[in-house]
Amino acid sequence: MTATPPASDRLQRDILRHLKYTQGKDRAHATLYDWRMALSFALRDQVVDPWFTATRRTYDEDRKRVYYLSVEYLIGRLIEDVAINLGLREASRAAIEALGVDWEALVENEPDAALGNGGLGRLAACYMESMATLGVPAMGYGIRYENGLFRQIFRSGQQVETPEDWLQEFHPWEFDRPEAAYEIGFGGNVAEHGGRTVWTPAESVYAVAHDTAIIGWQGRWANTLRLWSARPTTRFDLARFNAGDFAAAQAPEMLARTITRVLYPDDSTWAGKDLRLKQEYFLASASIQDILRRYLSTHEDFRALPEKVAVQINDTHPALAAPELVRLLVDQHGLAFDDAAEIMLGVFGYTNHTLMPEALERWSTWAIGNTLPRHMQIIERLDDWHARRKPARPPSTAIVAHDEVRMGNLAFIASHRVNGVARLHTELMKKTVFADLHALHPERIVNVTNGVTPRRWIAQANPGLAGLITETIGEGWQTDLERLAGLEAHVEDAAFRDAFAAVKRAGKERVAQWLAAEHGLSVDPAAMFDVQVKRIHEYKRQLLNILATIGLWLRMRDDPGRDWVPRVKIFGGKAAPGYHAAKEIIRLINDAAAVINADPATKGRLKVVFPPNYNVSMAEKLMPAADLSEQISTAGMEASGTGNMKLALNGALTIGTLDGANVEIRERVGAENFFLFGLTAEEAEARRRLPDHARLAIEETPELQRVLKAIGDGVFSPGEPHRYHGLLDRLWNHDHFLVASDYAAYVAAQDKVEEAWQDRDRWLRMAALNTARMGYFSSDRSIRDYMRDVWAVEPAI
Ligand SMILES: *Cc1c(COP(=O)(O)O)cnc(C)c1O
Repeated sequence: MTATPPASDRLQRDILRHLKYTQGKDRAHATLYDWRMALSFALRDQVVDPWFTATRRTYDEDRKRVYYLSVEYLIGRLIEDVAINLGLREASRAAIEALGVDWEALVENEPDAALGNGGLGRLAACYMESMATLGVPAMGYGIRYENGLFRQIFRSGQQVETPEDWLQEFHPWEFDRPEAAYEIGFGGNVAEHGGRTVWTPAESVYAVAHDTAIIGWQGRWANTLRLWSARPTTRFDLARFNAGDFAAAQAPEMLARTITRVLYPDDSTWAGKDLRLKQEYFLASASIQDILRRYLSTHEDFRALPEKVAVQINDTHPALAAPELVRLLVDQHGLAFDDAAEIMLGVFGYTNHTLMPEALERWSTWAIGNTLPRHMQIIERLDDWHARRKPARPPSTAIVAHDEVRMGNLAFIASHRVNGVARLHTELMKKTVFADLHALHPERIVNVTNGVTPRRWIAQANPGLAGLITETIGEGWQTDLERLAGLEAHVEDAAFRDAFAAVKRAGKERVAQWLAAEHGLSVDPAAMFDVQVKRIHEYKRQLLNILATIGLWLRMRDDPGRDWVPRVKIFGGKAAPGYHAAKEIIRLINDAAAVINADPATKGRLKVVFPPNYNVSMAEKLMPAADLSEQISTAGMEASGTGNMKLALNGALTIGTLDGANVEIRERVGAENFFLFGLTAEEAEARRRLPDHARLAIEETPELQRVLKAIGDGVFSPGEPHRYHGLLDRLWNHDHFLVASDYAAYVAAQDKVEEAWQDRDRWLRMAALNTARMGYFSSDRSIRDYMRDVWAVEPAI
């Protein structure tokens, strides 16, 4: 990956050409934004040829394609991503610096594209990158939200949501495709005409495509991420306007504007909103119409569709794609219903992401009947079709029941494979949400443990570690991450451990500088960086972490003479705007931070920081800097997690429960290199049934009593001692997430962490072994699992 001068010279020429002819600026007046545009266009130019070649080969060889449907893509910035995969990062830096522009500032100038909430959307982004790297012919479909996830700021410690305007500035990576537009209908009525069913929608919008090329490692393959935006079908109703009905005249424009306006900022509770239903159908219909158009351009017989098309639906949000496919095959192409259903089954795969009943989508039959009357009929017929094939099926397996459409059952019944996202999650799926469907279709559920792309999460985010790995075991790990095992042989080498420590130290110094410059926070890079970054949710238990932090603070004050391990507690994450309990936790963390950080008695020993607006770019800074990774969800509730993977890969040790992919991470890195604590999923279930479990736990845990008393007395909310009484009441009386019951075990595990930290060499060995043994968690492995077990596709390279 050394910069050859010709590459940077050529880039420099391209940048100057784009500055002049695309941006219309001369050097003397170019802003940072202009330079960023010029570099982005120069890099994008180099993606186009591999992209064309890949597309042409897919057509010429008539290859099966994967279509990945997701309502979320958490993409982040693209400059470095593209530059690295083209082998041009150093050349880009050299070219930009030679032009007198600051490289870091230019990179930071790019908005972080947050068209997603958290893990589910980031997974989709990692999978797109891995499919391009592996040369799987694939296309991602999503929604081009005008406003992505909100920007989080804190006012008096409380989260305030402000709009994130990633599209305010020109987005240089995408190509508009006005010719790829499909009409999407809503409402209206269904009638029979000469034996054919005809749906006449009451209103409609166009879905218009915007394509971004996703380039794989070394530029050997490129796929397309196609995001849909809505456009009005009639610009403006002039007749109505002239008749004086100004509001109605603008109705088509309003509908189109709202559909792709916002991302729903809630990733773990289900909210039945008519607009959300329209968004989901909008994505489903545009994508299926596009898939069928492409298929028909080179094929005639729909029976062969499953040989050429695999559609993966990322959670149930795009599940209407299944009835939409059936509708188009039956109503537009004249297939018999059962034949269409059979084709659907061959095409679809469904990834489940949650077992929590409150997160499983269900729509009232009234809402679907109203907005999508033809689909309501088709969903009912699919339910009959399934009932005919499984006459003994229990009522729990029906798609439609109690005037609701259960999207999980629809997705399950429409798909030939259903996968969970970590081994434990898949096993729990079989025993809980889909127990009855699993009994009917024992071959259908498979496991594909999540993964993360090492190109972004090591090569880009942690160039120091990437360099050390390459120096130690050579190139090749970037696409064959299991090669990291080669590092194990070096763990006993003191020089290697020193180099590993130096890389971590540099990551921490970088974060210390950033916290100081951006947030006015000073932290000591010599302290342990103890990191919990993820969406704020009760099940993820940031509350457990902050309570134990307060407990630690009280202990430090009790015993100032002890040789305490200095810690920096780093929190990051957003709460859904309507999620009151999560927002209270944010406020408590910030309130506690203010008091703890101002306490002279614990100065230099304990610091709590919560930089606002956690996103992919912030994750890229924090992953390399973390010593300790907090993965402390209530067992049985985190489907997989991917933050846990990014952190362990970057040499953080995990303190965690037996939940999600933690189970597999612990198996791979070794139990002795992982700080396990807490109830298992089974024990958690049983504990929850014990009356007054929280009260019992609190009574048995004096430190927790003190912590709760301090909060209740207003130690962290001096002007308003009652501020947290609601939170405390919930903890005492409705501790569904078992914070109290796991508190003592968590604190005991933190003591083990301190013990390990005090033996520098031991800690370094453990950290290096984590990196060496995390190769399994590459998203390349996940994609290979999908190719083999779900999609039946072969890579083209
Ligand atoms: C990886 C990632 C997540 C997922 O984190 P979990 O700890 O698995 O919940 C969420 N947000 C961002 C920005 C990420 O990069």
